[in-house]
Amino acid sequence: MSGPQMVDVIVVGSGQGGVPFAVEMARAGKQVVLFERGRLGGSCINYGCTPSKAFLAAAHGAGRARSLAPLGVRVSCDVDFAAVMARVRTIRDEFEAGVASRLGEAGVRVIGGNAAFTGLRTLAAGDVEVTAPLVVINTGTGPHLPPVEGLASIPFLTNETFFELTALPRRTLVLGGGYIGLELGQGLARLGSEVHIVDANPRVLAREEAEASAALQEGLRRDGVRLHLGCTVTRISQTGGEFSARLDAGDEVHADIVLVAVGRRPHTETLDAARGGVRLTREGYIAVDDQFRTSAPGTFAIGDVAGQPAFTHVSWEDYRRLTAILRGEARTRSDRVLAYATYTEPQVARVGLDQVQAAAQGRSARVLTLPLTSIARAQEWGYDVGFFRLVVEIGTDRILGATLVGYETAELIHVILAHMEAGSTWRVLERSVHVHPTYAEGLPTLARQACT
Ligand SMILES: Cc1cc2nc3c(=O)[nH]c(=O)nc-3n(C[C@H](O)[C@H](O)[C@H](O)COP(=O)(O)OP(=O)(O)OC[C@H]3O[C@@H](n4cnc5c(N)ncnc54)[C@H](O)[C@@H]3O)c2cc1C
Repeated sequence: MSGPQMVDVIVVGSGQGGVPFAVEMARAGKQVVLFERGRLGGSCINYGCTPSKAFLAAAHGAGRARSLAPLGVRVSCDVDFAAVMARVRTIRDEFEAGVASRLGEAGVRVIGGNAAFTGLRTLAAGDVEVTAPLVVINTGTGPHLPPVEGLASIPFLTNETFFELTALPRRTLVLGGGYIGLELGQGLARLGSEVHIVDANPRVLAREEAEASAALQEGLRRDGVRLHLGCTVTRISQTGGEFSARLDAGDEVHADIVLVAVGRRPHTETLDAARGGVRLTREGYIAVDDQFRTSAPGTFAIGDVAGQPAFTHVSWEDYRRLTAILRGEARTRSDRVLAYATYTEPQVARVGLDQVQAAAQGRSARVLTLPLTSIARAQEWGYDVGFFRLVVEIGTDRILGATLVGYETAELIHVILAHMEAGSTWRVLERSVHVHPTYAEGLPTLARQACT
């Protein structure tokens, strides 16, 4: 190597924040290098949001069709699994091509390969070494692999290989009852697989409120998903095409595929962060301050690898905040109202604080709950699993957060998000006249409970 090439900006990883950041800098006339060791566009486009939601579009279509029987419509589904998955991969590939052309049109120089620090603000991949006054790390996370005896010797799937499936597995074992395992597990069940989900927690989606888990478990039960909760897999083995998993409760589960979805690990193992002066947290995430600064001057980290709530809209918003901060504006990474959703059926959508989080912050709060069955729209459509919940602050009347469990609540949560961003109160929501009959109509009804 003949010494590093000097450019204006280096972006490491083509995640959801890194790509728009690189494009914006290049459009502003900067010389930008982006390192990417895998497919362009990161997890969201290739292994996460895009393929999983395209997959769920088919799966929920089948699930909803089958659930029409109580309405007097009996549907039998003929699932062409190969076609479902081919469509998923086509959409994924189109999204990736879109990223490549955005980067190309903006003039970002993309270097394929694993980037590692060789010094302060200096990185190399293969025989290319580059240095810049500004480095942004957006390397994301990958699947965590649990230390289960025998797991390393079998060809298990993760979210990075799941979407390559071409044949519907007759039986599926999912390790992990978090949102990834639940979305993909329920999806496979709705497409016709016998699905077992094992989780060490006593309930699925254990970080959410107990009532949300209970509603979701009812939805999964109706889809025939078998839940093994409060259990761990102690050993896993393969005989021919069959996998056998021993649970600590003594049971054995047999399956044709094993999907591992037990959490995420930060992509920092091969980054040689210390050589770049970049400090990691104990869990291996990049330690950043409230303005995305790492311990190395001129070096920032955004997205999942910065140890934040791991969502595409967080990483994308990080890019906007970081560019504002670099322009000298007083933004921080924590002054946002966080919302997110699990795209199971029922959907679980959350924004802001729940009751426990409000109490932990010393906020004096009141919790209002409305079962879905009280909403006319839900009754008319025969959708009876779920509830809407609002957490409001006593004294200020402000809305602190909400949990909406039911039909397509990921759309509905934005009503509450908008109120929270506007600093509005439950009184404003309560006097809003929503269209009848809609699920959204339940929100003023819910807020009205605070009047008594
Ligand atoms: C199955 C699944 C479903 C999901 N569904 C949703 C959803 O519905 N909604 C949502 O908001 N979020 C969802 N997520 C989370 C979402 O995908 C991530 O939060 C999002 O991609 C943001 O990631 P990022 O920008 O931090 O980096 P990533 O998108 O992870 O990109 C990081 C990139 O960096 C590259 N890289 C890593 N190390 C190096 C290196 N040393 N050198 C060069 N390149 C490197 C990687 O190859 C990768 O391409 C889902 C995730 C999964 C796994």
